[in-house]
Amino acid sequence: MVSQWSFLVCLLALAGATISLDRQALGGDAPPSDPRASFADKARQYFTDEELATGRAYARGRYLLYGARIALTLGLFGLLTLSPLSAKIRDLSVSVAGGRVWLTIGIFGLLLALLYYVVTFPVSLYGSFLREHTFGLSRQTFVAWAWDYAKGALINAVILLPLLILLYTFIRWDPVRWYLPVWVVVVLVMSLLAELSPILFDPLFHTFRPVQNTALVERLRTLTARAGLTVGPILEMDASRKTTKTNAYFTGFGRTRRIVLYDTLLTASAPEEVELVVAHELGHWRRHHIWKGMAISAVSALAALWLIARLLNIAADSGRFGFIHPADPRSLPLLLLLLVALTILTMPIQMAISRSFEREADRESLRLTANPKAFIASEITLARSNLADIDPPRVVVWLLYTHPPVLERIAMAEAFRAEQGQ
Ligand SMILES: [Zn+2]
Repeated sequence: MVSQWSFLVCLLALAGATISLDRQALGGDAPPSDPRASFADKARQYFTDEELATGRAYARGRYLLYGARIALTLGLFGLLTLSPLSAKIRDLSVSVAGGRVWLTIGIFGLLLALLYYVVTFPVSLYGSFLREHTFGLSRQTFVAWAWDYAKGALINAVILLPLLILLYTFIRWDPVRWYLPVWVVVVLVMSLLAELSPILFDPLFHTFRPVQNTALVERLRTLTARAGLTVGPILEMDASRKTTKTNAYFTGFGRTRRIVLYDTLLTASAPEEVELVVAHELGHWRRHHIWKGMAISAVSALAALWLIARLLNIAADSGRFGFIHPADPRSLPLLLLLLVALTILTMPIQMAISRSFEREADRESLRLTANPKAFIASEITLARSNLADIDPPRVVVWLLYTHPPVLERIAMAEAFRAEQGQ
């Protein structure tokens, strides 16, 4: 469902190069003389040949699907930018809106969103339903999946259409400096959603209940206290109704902050592995990754909006794209095209920042628990249940990986173990 927050995510994910990357990474392991050979040994030390092959098959199809989705999105917005089709959609919106300018852009945006969903639906259906069944990861019926998909689309519409109307109101007010008020709104919405989405949206997709295993809760409370964090409820989510994949996350701020564990994680893992997963999340909190991430998003959103405002004005002046004022709804496909293109171009930076945060959280989790053995065990459980690509191509890691590949994470724990003399 998260991946469907496409437009907003594009905006929020525009992370810029404002933070120095964490270079100490991987516990200082020296490059071995023949990296490929030693890599294969290491992979076989922890995974069977079959696990390696399945993970590769599953993940590599996902890379292709991701590429297909990007190509379709760019193709759609590119086509609308360059063809007279968007003039027809605008004329239709004008007549439906009956002369109300704010409603015209709302309807135009809605029609564009419908086109986007029509064009990308086959990829969604195949990638997040059919293929998940092929690999034995999904437990959802088609109706349940379609209902989740529809809810995701509705939530997008409810959040994004008012924002779109506001955006074009600002562009009409000041066609040059609209990016400043829009930026303020984006930052506000981003913070609000971080606070509210666990309460408002998560219950629409899952049911939650307190973790039943009291010994485990006790153990996790001790851990969070040791880390110096007070958390609200420790919840288990009924992920098993939908998937066999395992995961866990922290969500919310202040009073809404909670730990959520997939029930599949609780079934698949020993208590000390669950402890490691939670320690990793605590690591994010201790290193202030949520705030840092939001600050980076805010700065990069400002840069992106400024650039888009400049480019829209240049496009309007050129008159080549069917609009001579940036507030014309016909500028929207170009605006979205620029947004998606900027997001993709900055992906390697965003991913590098994310991976450096993940390494920091991994290191914190090792320090907190001093249990590299359980760290390695939990990495193996996560990799197996999620069919991870054990040996992803470097370029894919660079472009798409929010987390370091599993063997890098295991190597970090091994280095920690060696340091501790365990
Ligand atoms: Zn993490």
